[in-house]
Amino acid sequence: MPNNFYFFIGKKYNESEIENLLISVDKKITNIVESFIKGRIVKESNSLIRLQFSKVLHNVFKGRVPKLSRNISSTKDCVKCGLCLRNCPQGNITFENGHAVFHSKCILCLRCIHICPINVIRYKGKKIDQTQKNIIQVLDLNK
Ligand code: SF4
Ligand code: SF4
Repeated sequence: MPNNFYFFIGKKYNESEIENLLISVDKKITNIVESFIKGRIVKESNSLIRLQFSKVLHNVFKGRVPKLSRNISSTKDCVKCGLCLRNCPQGNITFENGHAVFHSKCILCLRCIHICPINVIRYKGKKIDQTQKNIIQVLDLNK
């Protein structure tokens, strides 16, 4: 998820870095699928330290999601198009008092921020660059 958490960790990838990341992921997925089709068992090699570090990081982040997600809000400029509401995987958004309101089931996927056509969803009141420009094309918006 290149750039999904740039607002949180402070590092924002540029276009070519994102391109390179996506190319390397694409190659990795192709290799995994080819191995699977050929019936080969492939084990990812990973250092124990890295694994433990990832587990700790995951647990810390998971524990903080409910608190962090309370920082998401929409401005009064929301036009109630319903895109965020229909596409939130958690059903976490409703309309109240004329704009989108976020509840407690958020998993911080940030789909709502990237899909809002007028970019009025804020994190800690700050405007976030929409970095997943193709998201509207890949989602079924008619459901
Ligand atoms: S961040 Fe994801 S889970 Fe949270 S409200 Fe937005 S779309 Fe829903
Ligand atoms: S996508 Fe944006 S404009 Fe549409 S309802 Fe959600 S916050 Fe409002």
